[in-house]
Amino acid sequence: MIERIKSKLFSFLKTRWAKTILVFLGVFFLLNFLFPPKINVHYSTIVTDSNGEILHAFLSSDEKWRMFVELKEITPTLRKAILAKEDKYFQYHFGVNPVAICRAVFNNITKKRRTSGASTITMQVVRMLNPEERTYWNKLSEILRAIQLEIFYSKDEILQMYLNLVPYGSNIEGIKSASYLYFQKSPDRLSLAEVTTLVIIPNRPTSLKLGTKNPLIVEERNKRLKTFQAEQLFDNQSINDALREPLLVFRHEAPKNAPHLSLRLKKQFPDEAIIVSSVKKATQAKVEQMVANYVNRTRVMNINNAAVLVINNQTMQVEAYIGSAGFNDNFDGGQVDGVQAVRSPGSALKPILYATAFDKGIITPKNIINDVPTNFNGFEPENFDRKFNGKVSIEFALANSLNIPAVKVVRDLGKSTLIEQLKKADFQTVKKQEKDLGLSIVLGGCGVTLEEMTQLYAAFANEGNWQKVTMLYDKDVKKKPSHTPIISAAASYLITDILAQIKRPDLPNNFDYTYRLPKIAWKTGTSFGRRDAWSIGFNKKYTIGVWVGNFSGEGVPELSGAEIATPLLFQIFNTIDYNTSGEWFHQPNAVVSRQVCAESGDLPSDYCSNKILDYSIKGISHTRKCTHLKKFYVNLSESISYCTQCLPVSGYKEKLYTNLAPELVSFYEQKHILYEKIPTHNPNCTRFFKIANNAPIITNPNNGSEYYISKNDSQQIQLSCQTSNDVKEVYWYLNDRLLQKTLSNKPLFFAPTVGKLKISCTDDKGRSSNIWVIVKEE
Ligand SMILES: [Zn+2]
Ligand SMILES: [Zn+2]
Repeated sequence: MIERIKSKLFSFLKTRWAKTILVFLGVFFLLNFLFPPKINVHYSTIVTDSNGEILHAFLSSDEKWRMFVELKEITPTLRKAILAKEDKYFQYHFGVNPVAICRAVFNNITKKRRTSGASTITMQVVRMLNPEERTYWNKLSEILRAIQLEIFYSKDEILQMYLNLVPYGSNIEGIKSASYLYFQKSPDRLSLAEVTTLVIIPNRPTSLKLGTKNPLIVEERNKRLKTFQAEQLFDNQSINDALREPLLVFRHEAPKNAPHLSLRLKKQFPDEAIIVSSVKKATQAKVEQMVANYVNRTRVMNINNAAVLVINNQTMQVEAYIGSAGFNDNFDGGQVDGVQAVRSPGSALKPILYATAFDKGIITPKNIINDVPTNFNGFEPENFDRKFNGKVSIEFALANSLNIPAVKVVRDLGKSTLIEQLKKADFQTVKKQEKDLGLSIVLGGCGVTLEEMTQLYAAFANEGNWQKVTMLYDKDVKKKPSHTPIISAAASYLITDILAQIKRPDLPNNFDYTYRLPKIAWKTGTSFGRRDAWSIGFNKKYTIGVWVGNFSGEGVPELSGAEIATPLLFQIFNTIDYNTSGEWFHQPNAVVSRQVCAESGDLPSDYCSNKILDYSIKGISHTRKCTHLKKFYVNLSESISYCTQCLPVSGYKEKLYTNLAPELVSFYEQKHILYEKIPTHNPNCTRFFKIANNAPIITNPNNGSEYYISKNDSQQIQLSCQTSNDVKEVYWYLNDRLLQKTLSNKPLFFAPTVGKLKISCTDDKGRSSNIWVIVKEE
């Protein structure tokens, strides 16, 4: 059996017919292989919102409006109408229609004129992909190319190519561009009348110009509709409706919404035809309008710009992206993208600082810290209002955005720990500036972007897990395992709890309390020189970052996070998130309540009577015992204190004194605030005191500083210190040689000599500290 088939096949292959066919096929496949189809079409990039609605369209690289039509946009109506008009046998032929070709050739010979009726849609696609002069040779090559296209692509894909390239006059190509620029909708929303209009134009794109030749187009359209009716392509009712539909279109501008985001995505994906962004069109439009209106009101104060980023905390997708108050505002740099601009954060990094300190266990919300003038090695920060508050809680310091406590916490935590946190949260400029950053980083002495800041705050809303935002829509977005834990859920909760408090000074002064205050946690920031106003807030659902200022960098006296940025933040929350579930963050199990001494925030000792409740993190927070009071032995008139060595037999009593830090003593002295002093130690006592705590703090000069002196002048350096409140006198030493004994609160002057100089200060209890300075000759 097999033998018989073999021999038959063999004898067939010997025939001339078979040889001809084989040679033809061989040549075709060789050509096919050597010259594969070239589809080199540049599309207009379209940026859509998360629902696929066009936000923004860009001209293609060859300056055409050529928007890529998706298969789902080719509705049955559109498909039927196109095929009925252009190529009835499209589904059945292999790229060319032999019957039509024969008819065309016959017509050409008998009637001496050319007709184009022989072109299938596939052949038209070939011609549009590769426009060439119409010669018989090119016609043949077109036929071969058409067959080739049918081999490489499905019918749907070929129809899609056709609809992408079909001309509509001027620089408009493809049905989608025509649909948007004239009817302002996507092709799948076109009515039958509109579809028919777009079907008839490509053959006469110049004489049937939409917008200028509408009456003529209606005439032609209705003719075509009648043909459709005769062919029973659509039911009569639809045809009759279409016949009555008026045509009132004209050419519109291409959509230009969300310009900053669209430009950014276009730059990122220059060759994509359709970029589906995560933006919600309605939210974007609302916020855009709000920002524009808001800045219109602040312009009288010379505050000309603002930027806003809205992040959905669950998906970490950006739902609104406003780069400036008006993209077309050339005068105030409207094209600058304020979401990506590098600015100073002011105090807006304080939450991450305190959260990190909570996680390291060094402080809890009710811990007491001294807000008093402090010299951090030459850096002497002031508060926003230039006042000092003395003893304050950490919670109060954060809610009131006090600067000195924040710098102290950076110092205690180590600035590198804070920088590491910011690096984990992908702060690009901080990474670059790392070596130059000092303690002032937490007061805004670094560069950040609104995007980085809003992203950081979203981590508080996500139990401390940081994740990069995405601006592309992903319907399958889940919390990806790639997110980086930067703080614990417990610390996030503590920070959120503080930032959600309503009694705070950074509510806008003119805030109308009858106006809805959204339930959010938020923090403001104002940069040095009042150049930047920040307000960043979050609830369960959204994190919103607001920046207000001038792109020129010009500072304005009225500019502050509380007064200028917060009202806009509240407005946006109230508009996009009003009346949602009202769900709030739950207290994690690791957050526990404990009793602490109100005077220190540490665990109460036997002497502490004023106890309050504080939060702490289980297994993490410190368990320091309070030392706010200290027991002293004093004489009955409380004028002399004793140690165990010199207790007099004549009698004494025990008394508790407040254990004040030297800086606080000096603050009280300066401000003439009364405090109870510890009586002088027994002058007859011979014991040498050596107590580790509360050594004097040399406040001038600064450790490590350099002085330049000239030979002729005898310059002097001032020595000053802060001491514990049981100290009366101090001893100053230069290179371990006694310089002078002075009263502890009196400064001392000396003339330095060239070289490295060790300066020591020892108090009358024997506690001492050293610093080094370098003195050079000019
Ligand atoms: Zn206490
Ligand atoms: Zn003594």
